[in-house]
Amino acid sequence: MTGQVLVLNRLWQPIHICDVRRAFALLFLGHAQVVRSDEESNYYTHDFDSWMEESKGYRGQDVIRTVSHCFRVPSIIVLNLFDRLPKQEVKFTRQNVFERDSYTCQYCGNHFEPRQLNIDHVIPRDKGGKTTWENVVCSCISCNSRKANYLPAEANMFPIREPKAPRWRPLFGGASGKKAGRVDESWRHFIEPSPTKVSVSR
Ligand SMILES: [Zn+2]
Repeated sequence: MTGQVLVLNRLWQPIHICDVRRAFALLFLGHAQVVRSDEESNYYTHDFDSWMEESKGYRGQDVIRTVSHCFRVPSIIVLNLFDRLPKQEVKFTRQNVFERDSYTCQYCGNHFEPRQLNIDHVIPRDKGGKTTWENVVCSCISCNSRKANYLPAEANMFPIREPKAPRWRPLFGGASGKKAGRVDESWRHFIEPSPTKVSVSR
């Protein structure tokens, strides 16, 4: 069995990726249900028996055969319990800071290629600022050199969004470094960040 299955928690937030074997084990044990969507983006959940029924009419290639049954491979499951799989933390890396900030300079709001971006310390390091999710933002080279080692108030440059640790999504490598090899189309509804809120309220 190959393929990756997106795992949602009970609040339907993505928390993990698992393989198909693990997804079926969780389904079989009653710890998870399959999430299926139709063309109108309505979502349905299926327990093991209901998924077996649903699979009967399925004519696609991505199926798993057992001795007596044929199952459609799920692409998303939702957990019935909170603690069945550990929550992934996003590893703090330069690349993941760029992902979090959508490759957008947090000072001028423009979008850039990774090579045109820097990591900026909101509170400069020489003023006690730490290298953490809460104190670094993605910045273009020009904004980065303009801000230099000034405090936001001194430079009158404030990040567009308050920096914080991102919630895990398959686009990030997790603490284990596990990252989705591909992003299934059906996952998008659950993993796209909410539309960028640009609030410059300071
Ligand atoms: Zn900029």
